[in-house]
Amino acid sequence: MEDFPEGTVWLVGAGPGDPELVTRKGERLIRAASVLFYDALVGPEVLALARPGTRMVHVGKRSGRHSQDQGSIDRLIVAAALAGERVVRLKGGDPAIFARATEEMAACRAAGVSVRICPGITAASAAAAALDTSLTLRGLARKLTFVTAHVRAGEVLDLDWQALADPQSTLAVYMGKASAAGMARHLLAAGLPPETPVAIVENASLPAERTLRTRLDLLGLAARSALGDGPALLLIGEALREPVGVTTAAKYHQSIGGA
Ligand code: SAH
Repeated sequence: MEDFPEGTVWLVGAGPGDPELVTRKGERLIRAASVLFYDALVGPEVLALARPGTRMVHVGKRSGRHSQDQGSIDRLIVAAALAGERVVRLKGGDPAIFARATEEMAACRAAGVSVRICPGITAASAAAAALDTSLTLRGLARKLTFVTAHVRAGEVLDLDWQALADPQSTLAVYMGKASAAGMARHLLAAGLPPETPVAIVENASLPAERTLRTRLDLLGLAARSALGDGPALLLIGEALREPVGVTTAAKYHQSIGGA
């Protein structure tokens, strides 16, 4: 394959979970791989796109659980490429968003291994689709901020709250489940109104997808009481305000604090 010679690496975006949301290019690369290194967030249906006989290596990292450190993942990928394999590094969502792509690409380049990115659909896009909503809103939400609220044990959530508390912006918060309450507290203190609409989408695009709408001052409570085990994305801002009279009754839908 012209763009995937032996001894090279592709970082491929697996999308948010639904195998139909893998790009056609991504699927072609997955099928061409001789070895596939994948994350915890890449589901079985996406992995099933690989050809039988492809070596599948789980290098999963989920916060709070035992994880393979980034250095050993980098070394595994490089070693496979140097051994002449066609390497796909499959990452949930888009490889260029909160996915440590820089480290893996640097490790490849340092070893003289050619590496490229195949983009994927990021969780925020899948979450917007789950909510039947737009992330931007003409005149009202002119800015879209992707932010991660991941903190290691013992660390404090140290973000520029003044900059984030922009009423004209939509915040898409990745890895924000554990710090949802703190996040809300800081944003309120920085001046965002308590009634700012919030949506939480868990398992976006997967059969277990759940959406939940609430408001900023109730976000902590909602995240604590209503979320399960799956990955969840928080969306905060006016763009998330539900149009009057519209309900998504067909979907699992729960509203805390809203009318
Ligand atoms: N590269 C990924 C993000 C990796 S960080 C992307 O572009 O989507 C992992 C975080 O992404 C999770 O903690 C969660 O916040 C979010 N996420 C990933 N898949 C998701 C899904 N199917 N539904 C909701 N959130 C998801």
